Amino acid sequence: MSVNNRKYIVLLGVPGAGKGTQAQLLQDKLGLPQISTGDIFRYNLKNETELGLLAKSYMDKGDLVPDEVTIRMVEDRLQQDDCANGAIMDGFPRNLVQAEAFEKMAAPYGGVSVTPLVSIEDDVAIERITGRRTCRTCGAVYHIKFNPPKQADICDNDGGPLYQRDDDKAETVRNRLYVYYKQTAPLVGYYFAKALLVELDGARPISQVHEELLSLLR
Ligand code: ADP
Ligand code: AMP
Ligand code: ZN
Repeated sequence: MSVNNRKYIVLLGVPGAGKGTQAQLLQDKLGLPQISTGDIFRYNLKNETELGLLAKSYMDKGDLVPDEVTIRMVEDRLQQDDCANGAIMDGFPRNLVQAEAFEKMAAPYGGVSVTPLVSIEDDVAIERITGRRTCRTCGAVYHIKFNPPKQADICDNDGGPLYQRDDDKAETVRNRLYVYYKQTAPLVGYYFAKALLVELDGARPISQVHEELLSLLR
């Protein structure tokens, strides 16, 4: 009997750790799509879908969107053709209920492969989040100081306008860190116990973190 094994990589780390940045760099190299639940919510919000409007009230406060909605959204996304070899999970799972649901989704394909934890200090996270700029059209991520676009406020990829996410403003950022420690941090122990955790120093430049991730994943 042949088993269709897939590679499911779960990136862990506080908001601002660099998960999205690294996932975007890894996609092409590994031939796996980045699945960012935050990006999917923002896409729905932009298009004013029912899902987007529901998510908005939680995102504005920096709280988690309810599990039922989030889990169903990821189940649907993973059934698309581009996920036939697995996926790079960015921002999901984010609590133990989601982790257990994801375990069930991944089980038929060999389970979760590895969960790299990108570690940084909270003050670094705050500096990164408040300086983050995102492309309105393609979702590419920049930083005004650490990873600026070639031309101010314009995306290198597609010329789209860069904007600051509402939830990247200082008031919301503290609650997002609080939610991380309360709800998401337990996943570190959860995956450590399953021998899937690898910790990386995320305080280094983007390219160095990328090289380490690549050598770890290949
Ligand atoms: P996350 O997806 O974990 O919330 P992002 O990938 O969006 O984090 O990164 C947060 C911000 O920090 C972005 O503005 C990004 O350009 C910047 N950034 C990401 N990785 C690094 C790094 N290694 N050094 C400096 N800045 C970084
Ligand atoms: P992110 O883009 O990962 O920073 O996520 C932005 C916001 O989207 C979060 O603050 C949550 O409100 C929501 N969100 C993203 N991923 C999840 C998830 N896995 N579960 C619940 N809410 C999420
Ligand atoms: Zn763009």
